[in-house]
Amino acid sequence: MFCKIEHIGIAVKNLEAANSMFQELANAHLLKVELVESEGVKTSFFKIGESKIEFLEATHPESSIAKFIEKNGEGMHHIAFEVDDIFSELERLKNIGFQLINEVPKNGADNKIIAFLHPKSTNRVLIELCQEKK
Ligand code: ZN
Repeated sequence: MFCKIEHIGIAVKNLEAANSMFQELANAHLLKVELVESEGVKTSFFKIGESKIEFLEATHPESSIAKFIEKNGEGMHHIAFEVDDIFSELERLKNIGFQLINEVPKNGADNKIIAFLHPKSTNRVLIELCQEKK
């Protein structure tokens, strides 16, 4: 089951600059900054009510975020939905024809396991499913 929009991910060139921009914009406190070595990204999170905003900066040129920015420039990168059971949701979505990028969930930032759907099957919007690690 999809529970809520957990966060919206925004690809940026400079995480620190994005953080201070957003602090001013939303008058919000930075929740955390986290390096996800396996993904080649440094992330930051702001909490806005029930949802979060995630900024992502590449840590090396081969990172998917570096490639995204090279192709599209900075901007909205993905929408993340919190699900109650990521394994059964991936199974369900696969069975009804959605293309999965990650067939098996992997470790993400913010104490989550995550999996991405291919934007080809979702109107060119990159969708992340995430679930809190138990
Ligand atoms: Zn995310």
